[in-house]
Amino acid sequence: MSNVLSAKPVVDKNINDLINECNLLKSKGVTPYLKVILVGDNPASVIYTKNKKAFCEKIGAKCDIIKLSADIDEKDFLNEVENINNDNSVHGLLIQLPLPKKLKHLDVTTLVNETKDVDGFHPLNVFELYKGNKEDKILAPCTPKGIVTLCKFYNIDLEGKKIVVVGRSLIVGKPLALLLMNYNATVTVCHSKTKNLKEITKSADIIISAIGQEGFINCDHVRDDKTQIVIDVGINKNNDNKTVGDCDFQTLSNKVKAITPVPGGIGPMTILSLAQNLLQAAKKSLYP
Ligand code: NDP
Repeated sequence: MSNVLSAKPVVDKNINDLINECNLLKSKGVTPYLKVILVGDNPASVIYTKNKKAFCEKIGAKCDIIKLSADIDEKDFLNEVENINNDNSVHGLLIQLPLPKKLKHLDVTTLVNETKDVDGFHPLNVFELYKGNKEDKILAPCTPKGIVTLCKFYNIDLEGKKIVVVGRSLIVGKPLALLLMNYNATVTVCHSKTKNLKEITKSADIIISAIGQEGFINCDHVRDDKTQIVIDVGINKNNDNKTVGDCDFQTLSNKVKAITPVPGGIGPMTILSLAQNLLQAAKKSLYP
């Protein structure tokens, strides 16, 4: 069995720092406060928002989930967002995706004020990545930030590494590629139109999959020399309704040097990043 890169020790190591930082902010009169807007009742979104709230409360921050009907008028939804943007007691605002059909056309990246953008989606925050900044200085997108935090914990040096990212979404693949470049990795981004994907992944030091297809990355995508590292971002439900990743963990774990599990890998790292971003935003409100 190869090395399993579990999130638990990383979260355990970081949680005390977050609790201490939170207490320090409270002693200065600032209680970090996150509001999460949940529109509709998508079952996965309900669980994700509950997990986010539970983690914020665990570190001593405040978190409210604002539940809105899937039928809400666009105007009322935008008003709700604006009210939170203008509320100085709130440091972080997150709009849980996906939005229902009625609101799908909205560009959520620009709705949340950049100073409260704990998801790191706002163009001004993304531009910080373009400029070459690392995740500790900016409100970076949570999943890419979590991946880098995990790599640092497990002493996975990114500099000069050939990293293949499979998936080019706005929330994972693209910002991840930028962040990895800022760590001097050599990054290749693949997608559904990529030709010879298996050859490309076989040439990587680190393969990061963010596709959304159960078991898509398998033994055919890796070399036999057990030197590669696989990071699985995917969260999918299999036929038994179990949560599984994009990577065939069972077979790959014997063929690669190290691999992240699903669940227990990048999912909890993403929530850790959210809490780190919230404290960063709260700190900025104190020392602008
Ligand atoms: P998107 O659906 O937005 O993007 C999927 C990407 O995968 C696209 O770029 C698509 O290519 C690419 N893709 C799809 N099929 C293939 C294929 N056969 N070969 C190569 N590339 C392919 O997904 P997200 O980025 O939002 O999420 C990806 C996965 O990560 C999901 O399972 C999601 O649930 C999970 N996720 C997990 C998080 C966590 O905290 N662990 C956080 C966010 C997401 P193209 O652009 O050409 O269509």
